[in-house]
Amino acid sequence: MSKYDVTIIGSGPGGYVAAIRCAQLGMKTAIIEKYDTLGGTCLNVGCIPSKALLDSSEHYHNATHTFEEHGIKVANVSADISQMIDRKNKVVEQTCAGVKFLMDKNNIDVHHGVGSFVDKNTIKITDSEGKETTLETKNTIIATGSKPNYFPGMEPDKDRIITSTEALSLKEIPGSVVVIGGGVIGLELGSVWARLGSQVHVVEFAKSIIPTMDSTMGKELTKTLKKLKMKFNMEHKVQNVENTGKGVKVTALNKKDEEVTFEADYCLVSVGRKPYTDGLGLENVGIKVNNRGQIETDDHLKTNVEGIYAIGDVVKGAMLAHKAEEEGVFVAEHLAGQIPHINYNLIPGVVYTWPEVASVGKTEEELKEAGTAIKVGSFPIKALGRARASMDIQGLVKIIADQETDEILGVHIIGARAADLIMEGVVAMEYRASAEDIARMSHPHPTYSEAMKEAAMAATEDRAMHI
Ligand code: FAD
Repeated sequence: MSKYDVTIIGSGPGGYVAAIRCAQLGMKTAIIEKYDTLGGTCLNVGCIPSKALLDSSEHYHNATHTFEEHGIKVANVSADISQMIDRKNKVVEQTCAGVKFLMDKNNIDVHHGVGSFVDKNTIKITDSEGKETTLETKNTIIATGSKPNYFPGMEPDKDRIITSTEALSLKEIPGSVVVIGGGVIGLELGSVWARLGSQVHVVEFAKSIIPTMDSTMGKELTKTLKKLKMKFNMEHKVQNVENTGKGVKVTALNKKDEEVTFEADYCLVSVGRKPYTDGLGLENVGIKVNNRGQIETDDHLKTNVEGIYAIGDVVKGAMLAHKAEEEGVFVAEHLAGQIPHINYNLIPGVVYTWPEVASVGKTEEELKEAGTAIKVGSFPIKALGRARASMDIQGLVKIIADQETDEILGVHIIGARAADLIMEGVVAMEYRASAEDIARMSHPHPTYSEAMKEAAMAATEDRAMHI
């Protein structure tokens, strides 16, 4: 039987990064993955394929909407969905192969099959043909991730009622789609189709889309997505989704409790994700799971069983690839006797629509509710020379600082390249910078980053200059 210092179950961004760090720190490391390819949700059916389709559809949208104004004439532009999906598949293949390369480079043993606990130091691996092997391990890191969630009445049939996984491999551009859920995944995939010409109806239970982000972001994003002709039905509670053979019929109650129906070619159910622990044999070792299905962990991400840790989507916290990665590194370093640290307040969140939305720290609503005295500085992207040059003028940067100390408490951006711009906010907040610190730093001209400086100036003394 093979013996390891640490075994990781699941090869998503949490698991494979944990494996690399464990190996770097000198531990004999194994990783178990039930699918044939490594990389988990993120690389196979999440972050990477969705961004590939977002980029392809954005190019198509620009070719049909903005090229002419740039002075570029193209005739007979059409979207070839099978080529888009093929390209997306190649990007996924290359990225997953990259993870396999990293495992080999770091001498990490890769086992394919479902990993399940026999006891706290023995793990059984059942491969796709039912063949069983076991390995012995001193420590285990559970990184089994999550699966799409749904509520009664909206069970996906993977044909017309689909989850993000099927949505990433559709064989046709739908004429129309109902997207249940105005969160990150629904809006990203909804905007892919809207750019390709589908009529997209978003049906959301909350009052606003992206309801966990600063409310300004939801309002601004609604305005920009409406320009893509996406339709928003807020405060609607979906009761039932029916596959009618040629399409779907979605029944919901609006805020007056009146029944409303939506008919479309497909229905994307994107109401969040749930932790995945099926087949792990948690009962064999007595690992505690809470009522949301998350594995319970302490401050060191240790479960209630000595030597067994859990990270990523399967535990509490934001379901994000980079959060899972940080936790993978954290557990590896903790096992090596180091004293690692994660600042959960500074895990940035991004929505990859166009324009993008990105956020770090606290929202204005959270700070007001906590009774913190704050000041807010905003700057519109349209006032930037760089934005006008590229015609990406939508959005704003909002910096929230402590009224008294000027320490930055939250940065919220909607605009072109927000996903990259947010890192200035993360770095500033990690070093507990004040708004004035950012306001006094030279920012290259012309760039989108100038909006950060201007918003910081607006927060400091209401002294933004270019507005
Ligand atoms: P996962 O990536 O889910 O990996 C878990 C792995 O464990 C899987 O490969 C699974 O097969 C394996 N496994 C499960 N049980 C067993 C078992 N018993 N034995 C062996 N193997 C097992 N996040 C971002 O940060 N940015 C984005 O842009 C982004 N976009 C997304 C877009 C979509 C459409 C979706 C669905 C998600 C997106 N996410 C994004 C979220 C991101 O994918 C997850 O937060 C991330 O993958 C979680 O990583 P993880 O390592 O915890 O688990």
